[in-house]
Amino acid sequence: MALNTGSLLRVDLSSGKVSTETIPESITADFVGGRGYGISYLYQELAPGIDPLGEKNKLMMLNGPLAGNMAQAVSRWMVCTRSPLTGAFARSVCGADFGAWLKFAGYELIIVEGKAEKPVYVHLTADDCQILDAGEIWGKDTKEAQAWLNRQHGSNTRTACIGPAGENLVKYAAIVSGRRTAGRCGTGTVMGSKNLKAIAVTAERKIQLADAEAYDKLAREQVDIIRNNGGFQNHKEWGTTATQDITNAIGVYPVQNFRYGQQTDYEKITGEEYRKLRTGDMGCYSCPARCGKVHTVTSGIYAGAHSEGPEYETIWAFTGPIESNNIEASIAADQLCDDLGLDTISTGGCIGFAYELYEKGLLKKSDTDGLELIYGRHEPMITLVKKIARREGIGDLLAEGTMRAAATIGKGAEAYAMHVKGLELPAYEPRGAKSQGYNYVTANIGANHCYGYAAQDIFGAPEPRPTDRFSEENADVVIYNQDGTAFKETGIVCGFAGGWGWVPDLFGKLLAAARGIERFADNDYLNQVGVRIFNLERAFNVREGFYRKQDTLPERMLTEPLHTRKAPGEGQMVSHQDEFLDKYYSLRGWTKEGIPAPEKLRELGLESVVEDMAGN
Ligand code: SF4
Repeated sequence: MALNTGSLLRVDLSSGKVSTETIPESITADFVGGRGYGISYLYQELAPGIDPLGEKNKLMMLNGPLAGNMAQAVSRWMVCTRSPLTGAFARSVCGADFGAWLKFAGYELIIVEGKAEKPVYVHLTADDCQILDAGEIWGKDTKEAQAWLNRQHGSNTRTACIGPAGENLVKYAAIVSGRRTAGRCGTGTVMGSKNLKAIAVTAERKIQLADAEAYDKLAREQVDIIRNNGGFQNHKEWGTTATQDITNAIGVYPVQNFRYGQQTDYEKITGEEYRKLRTGDMGCYSCPARCGKVHTVTSGIYAGAHSEGPEYETIWAFTGPIESNNIEASIAADQLCDDLGLDTISTGGCIGFAYELYEKGLLKKSDTDGLELIYGRHEPMITLVKKIARREGIGDLLAEGTMRAAATIGKGAEAYAMHVKGLELPAYEPRGAKSQGYNYVTANIGANHCYGYAAQDIFGAPEPRPTDRFSEENADVVIYNQDGTAFKETGIVCGFAGGWGWVPDLFGKLLAAARGIERFADNDYLNQVGVRIFNLERAFNVREGFYRKQDTLPERMLTEPLHTRKAPGEGQMVSHQDEFLDKYYSLRGWTKEGIPAPEKLRELGLESVVEDMAGN
């Protein structure tokens, strides 16, 4: 069986040089692919302390070894870089077809280096890669830019691009492909800093598998398993558009910038209400779930708004933070974010922050360009989305993210900035779902819900053991979730498929057939790869000055009781963060300061990192 480690395309925008490399077997054996390749190359190639928006940062776009083939829900792709929002390691995952197309063109990894002198885009085929003038599309929104690229290069083209937010270096700009986004951590900002508007891939379907016959057989098994799974049918019907029904009922739907865990009159924003405006569904390459639910507004002030979404996080981002029950406004805001290239979670978080500062008198009408930021009013929210993308007026301040904006405002504004390591909190209240909260605290990219999603807290998942969601003694479960996610993202398996398409043995066998490396069929081996990835990411962060001090929830979660209205969990706080970190670090084999210890690094085959950690 031939070995298939995948190829890498290196694009240097400063020199205009393009080259290809075969990924060495040693990297494949230790890191498998996807997120593993991302951190492996980033750690090796990025000098500590570089400016995330400078020429020396690198943007890595990765699919996984299973992308572009018959196996289901494994054609997602991701971006890894150093985040301009947090300064830490960044990974952001996206769907649609781009990952498959990248594979058809022959690549598992694109590394973009340097900075172009003027706006450019990269056009890639199986035989060629050109850096071309993007003057015509610079300034255009993501829909217009993608349509232009399709006209230039044909309908068999798939694109990852930025919108005006990325061009304007909004710190949480997204990369958009179709109508899906690599939203978190400001990956679109890094692209904008390089004057890179888009990467467009034109390619025909091509198989790249070490053992295509074995792979096909395994993929058919996976299709059968999925088709007969009840969880799959439910996800196909609803996507995540009804998750707020669950989170409101249990009091973990963050409201008014994380003061409450339940929205007033939340019956107005249920899945059924969104269902009434649904006009279609969309999905990713080779996934029958098509879980992206399309919504269209037909009446009222938002008539004509149309988006593939909002999904749960975005439903929350444009309702909960300002306590609006207007679902039409959430659809309009989602459309704007996709067009302008903004991360919806950070955008909603920054807007909720501004509303609270306005209530507290820390922002006045003269600071907000005349906008009255009063809870429940959704019109100013829509205006703010546009202002942020254009960095106009108050939008320029909010475009920096809550951590930097609070530091600029001063006067105690930091107390209302809801972030971990600079990344705005997502749609699960940490005081009511503490394993989820502690995942935010310790995730290598900051407060991210899917870096180690605590399904035990939210849905009562029984593996590796059930949790009491108010307990702070679940460090082992947090680690299980985080390492398991790293393991799956070598694939790159969609996080949603965890409930219905995830069969670890089958996944390992698929990887073995795709790569031609037998030991990938061994789950213990792959688990260890997940641990290795997580530790190397942590080492990357330590090199950048992240230790125990930055592993913390916002002050509000540690000092103010949660109010849940009619839901359980009233009065909950996070009271034992220090004890949690002691336990978590000890289980991980890290020092008291949260630095991976030499023995742990050696055990993981990361001998070369030991010295880097020594001076920290
Ligand atoms: S479950 Fe949804 S997000 Fe995941 S791969 Fe399928 S369509 Fe894409």
